[in-house]
Amino acid sequence: MTMTEGFHVKTRPDFVAWLTEHAAELADLNPRPDDELETRVDKSLALLGRLHADGIIGWGWAEDLGGFGGDATDRAALYDALTATGFGMPEQVGALEVLGSALTTFAPELARRALPAVFEGRELWCQGFSEPEAGSDLASLRTTAKQTSDGWVIDGQKVWTSLGHRSRWCGVLARTGAPEGRHRTLTLFWVDLESPGVTVRPLQTTTGEAEFSEVFFDAVSVPADHVIGEVDGGWKVAMHLLQYERGMWAWQRQAIMHASLDDLIAKAGSHPAAAETVGAAYVALAALRARSRQTVERLARGERLGPEVSIDKTLLSSAEHLVNDAVRALRLNDFLFGDDADANRIRGEWYYSRAASVYGGAVEVQKNIIAEHVLGLPREDRRG
Ligand SMILES: Cc1cc2nc3c(=O)[nH]c(=O)nc-3n(C[C@H](O)[C@H](O)[C@H](O)COP(=O)(O)OP(=O)(O)OC[C@H]3O[C@@H](n4cnc5c(N)ncnc54)[C@H](O)[C@@H]3O)c2cc1C
Repeated sequence: MTMTEGFHVKTRPDFVAWLTEHAAELADLNPRPDDELETRVDKSLALLGRLHADGIIGWGWAEDLGGFGGDATDRAALYDALTATGFGMPEQVGALEVLGSALTTFAPELARRALPAVFEGRELWCQGFSEPEAGSDLASLRTTAKQTSDGWVIDGQKVWTSLGHRSRWCGVLARTGAPEGRHRTLTLFWVDLESPGVTVRPLQTTTGEAEFSEVFFDAVSVPADHVIGEVDGGWKVAMHLLQYERGMWAWQRQAIMHASLDDLIAKAGSHPAAAETVGAAYVALAALRARSRQTVERLARGERLGPEVSIDKTLLSSAEHLVNDAVRALRLNDFLFGDDADANRIRGEWYYSRAASVYGGAVEVQKNIIAEHVLGLPREDRRG
């Protein structure tokens, strides 16, 4: 650590060295990909708390938010270090990237109250955007927020809310004006899921795990100071947040996929199809990492990525498919017939890889965005 007179200069720890040194002692807190979801969540909370107490998680976040300073590149380095040293990605770091960045930029007072609880492993958050009739066409959402004398009252339903059943707080996008206003009459709220009128119902997926929830809001009161950004300014916040949902999430996933590919090479590297299959997956992953690295650096500089981040999302989707198809092809016996935790992991990862072309914006929609807003091509005729 370097000290200058009256000025404290912190030096970021070497994350890989620290995690390697403490791996054995943290083994019980490691959210392994072959653990059950609920166990992964419990371990993730415990791991975050420990890593924050030891000055590791919090780098990349401002000190007045409970962090240790630095920028998005520090966070990216930690995500890489976690998977490189055999740790699972803690469950809540995706929501931290997405919602934490929105809170920090558009509601700093809320961010100061909210972020420490995640760093210390006390709370999870979730994102309440999608509805049964509003996914790709998010601007058609129907959940409403009506203003009262001291705040807002929310009514409606969200769906596909990741980890909704374990979350304390939810970023809820709701309509605060006429539906014809589309994206101009939406507002983002920070909602306590323990409020009266909230019902959370877990939804079981193909993997057998209840990763998502439906969340119902029946006259749920939200204080006036729990608006993130401006009233009717929710679209601007959502677009800011999507830079992290498509950009930083892609970085987290590439770190996880590198670990999967290393594991595949160790277990099935002698398979006759290994060179071709692993090669194709590695090329897709290298393209994603190269692109994603630039994105993280741009986010760290505070640049606005805009529609270009749809390129990251598209590369992520291709890499997820190729990497997990490679695992399935080279370990087909385990994939089809294995009944141990490792076989469950590779099947679970393969199913999850199919979701990469849907969550955070379907890949077909990303391609439309790239065509129209990055390349300036004419809008296709979408009638009929
Ligand atoms: C693993 C996972 C986690 C998720 N977590 C969350 C969460 O935490 N919070 C949340 O709010 N939501 C979450 N979602 C929901 C996700 O945001 C939506 O699934 C996504 O936006 C697509 O919406 P949809 O499912 O309604 O599909 P639709 O909008 O009905 O689209 C279905 C398909 O139609 C095609 N399509 C639609 N519109 C167009 C178009 N204009 N041009 C070309 N093709 C088109 C696409 O192929 C698309 O895949 C999650 C989804 C998944 C899979």
